[in-house]
Amino acid sequence: MTLAYWNGTYMSLADVKVSPLDRGFLFADGVYEVVAFYDRRLFQLDEHLARLERSLREIRIGTDISREELAGVFRHLMDDLPSKTGTVYLQVTRGAAAGRAHPFPAGTAASLLAFASPLKRLSESEMELGFLATTSPDIRWQRCDIKAIALLPSVLAAQDAKENGALETIMHRDGLVTECASSNVFIVRDGHIATPRADNRILNGINRQVAISLARNLGLSVEERDVSLEELRSADEIWITSTTKEIAPMTRLDNAPIGDGRPGPLWRRVRQAFCALIDQA
Ligand code: PMP
Repeated sequence: MTLAYWNGTYMSLADVKVSPLDRGFLFADGVYEVVAFYDRRLFQLDEHLARLERSLREIRIGTDISREELAGVFRHLMDDLPSKTGTVYLQVTRGAAAGRAHPFPAGTAASLLAFASPLKRLSESEMELGFLATTSPDIRWQRCDIKAIALLPSVLAAQDAKENGALETIMHRDGLVTECASSNVFIVRDGHIATPRADNRILNGINRQVAISLARNLGLSVEERDVSLEELRSADEIWITSTTKEIAPMTRLDNAPIGDGRPGPLWRRVRQAFCALIDQA
């Protein structure tokens, strides 16, 4: 049985009953987080909890659970999972009101659901081969900095990538790269690393921030700036980052090779530093 935390109680995930009036169900009115753990150690937990608090603030959902209590919930769910490597998913919605109306209901408590799942990490041999990425128009809203549970455009983009045999799809708007369905994007050109800046157009990924700081600590140059689709297509290296994909090299874009068609040297250095960080965390 998978253990879940549901509004203050631990129970089997299969036994959680959500009201049809829950605003998560009716309006996708909520936010979420996904935290990875390696060998039963939560990775970048404080950073994830800080981002959750920001998402909640931005959409004005209040909860009475403290950061310490939430960290305890994450640990409990992690410890209960047979797999030592996994993720904890947490979502908070505006709760179940008496009826359906768009404005915020008064006096409704937020709904909080969390559960852990095993994580099958991308293997070293898969990483060494590299991955295919497709490109697609970014059709999402203008507050992609909020980790909202309203994910339909990302669901459609991810399905399209899957049907094309790709690990991810790199989205673009007005000729500029934004991010992927569920990852951030980095390019390397002439030894310089660049990634779109963290504004309202993208989610400021935790592993995006980790990759930037690891690269800078290695003395590499990282610019947070506009990245055009043309620059992406002619990049020497493309990487994507996310909690579940870590730092993964793309070696083909829409079926054209990237650089020499193999994972690049800067990816290798940052990836190595990332693995060392996981081991010491
Ligand atoms: N962008 C989007 C749209 C995402 O959904 C995610 C992961 N949920 C990311 C980027 C990567 O963020 P993180 O590194 O925090 O997993």
